[in-house]
Amino acid sequence: MFAQNNFSKSRMELFLSKNINVLKTKLGNYYIFDSLCGNLTKINKDMFFLINNFNNKINFNEEKIKKAKDFLVKNHFLIDKNYDELENLKKNFKKYLKESKSGEFVSNLRLNLSQSCNCACKYCYVSKIDALKDNCFMSWNVAKKAVNKFMEMAKKNMLKKVTIRFFGGEPLLNLFVFKKSVEYSSKLSKKYGIRINYLLNTNGTLVSEEISKFIYKNKITIVLSLDGLEKEHNRNRIFRDGGGTFNDIDENLNTFLKFKNKVVISTVVTPETNITDFKKFIDYLKSKGIKHLGTLPMQTYVKKGNSKKKAEKIVNLLIESKKYGLKKGVIVKGPWELLFVKLTHPSFSYCGGIGKEFSISPKGEIYPCCAILRKLGTIENMEKIPSNKEYEALLRRSIPFLKKCRGCEIEAICSGGCAAEAEHVYNDINSPSPDCYLRKILVKKMIVEDNPKIFLE
Ligand code: SF4
Ligand code: SF4
Ligand code: SF4
Repeated sequence: MFAQNNFSKSRMELFLSKNINVLKTKLGNYYIFDSLCGNLTKINKDMFFLINNFNNKINFNEEKIKKAKDFLVKNHFLIDKNYDELENLKKNFKKYLKESKSGEFVSNLRLNLSQSCNCACKYCYVSKIDALKDNCFMSWNVAKKAVNKFMEMAKKNMLKKVTIRFFGGEPLLNLFVFKKSVEYSSKLSKKYGIRINYLLNTNGTLVSEEISKFIYKNKITIVLSLDGLEKEHNRNRIFRDGGGTFNDIDENLNTFLKFKNKVVISTVVTPETNITDFKKFIDYLKSKGIKHLGTLPMQTYVKKGNSKKKAEKIVNLLIESKKYGLKKGVIVKGPWELLFVKLTHPSFSYCGGIGKEFSISPKGEIYPCCAILRKLGTIENMEKIPSNKEYEALLRRSIPFLKKCRGCEIEAICSGGCAAEAEHVYNDINSPSPDCYLRKILVKKMIVEDNPKIFLE
């Protein structure tokens, strides 16, 4: 038996972390997580009792309560009075910063092959940033140098696998450089023994049998933008003359599938997206034989009106469509699920745009992602970027330093949210990104589902 004196003594020295959150799920279970350490865990009734009564004068001398206490101590929910979670994070951050100098975190290259597009989607941030300049295409010289430098860095850091993404505007407007880049990268892949995962983001309006064959031969995953069935898709996704793009994409999708291309659909979910229509869209994808659907929530803060209701609608749709997809054999995923992953595996940054990616503009300038406007350097000095002050400043957009996020219930889970949104809305990359409400309810709703494996697959 656990001696009461000992327990009383340890109780005096231990504190409930002020960062813990306890949530009751749909199935009546309780989960606990810490806003700085994550550690999402299902707790039993002894742990729940202990947490709720820790500061009360109750006799805790039973063996099973001792076990509950040991568990809570091990997972930092009960902490020693001298343990400072934030200081501990800062210490780990120093180590992380030191490791970053070699460039070992940079595993993604994004080649923005074209700043031009044949479409004019109503919510396109690319069009706002780049003003859709015509004739603004990446040259083969720029692409070749970027690939060379990136692969050399990967080799130096002994990376076994990297990702190269072709992006725009519409990358297929620059078909020549797209093909040359793939062929050249594949040669370097063999030479250095580094696997390359190729991704092509396309609006799907410029497709031919020849392109499909090339994509298949080179094992490129197509990320095709499609926002729903005809009416929903055409609401925002239009050609420059105002006409809807759905029918062209539907036809081109058949070409991709005829040549056995791997297609992942990428869909922007807006407050106007209706779950009944969205389920029909999943049925349509299933009927085409498409197994992967990526959902991207549109920000709700920019719109006038009840942004909370809009955020709630989007969150429900993300989760409901995921569950419907599971039933139908269509895997519905999205970067929003990273928030759930981080409940068990916290990281310093919100996303790959902070330190993991080099996004190359047609002129050879390097940015952290396609939407952050802070220039890190150019392809001429790519290998020096990981040790420069701009790169370090970017990495420092991290939870130990984001003062305005301090005390948020999902502080290290969200890590300030999307840096690009913060920059566009507040002109300050170190601000919390504005859609806090959406992310907070999303995290809670994913936990309340009480089915962690569906978000971790
Ligand atoms: S297809 Fe893509 S790049 Fe072109 S206008 Fe639409 S969102 Fe923008
Ligand atoms: S900063 Fe925002 S836009 Fe850039 S990669 Fe991260 S989430 Fe995406
Ligand atoms: S951005 Fe908002 S939701 Fe995210 S950690 Fe900061 S305050 Fe919390």
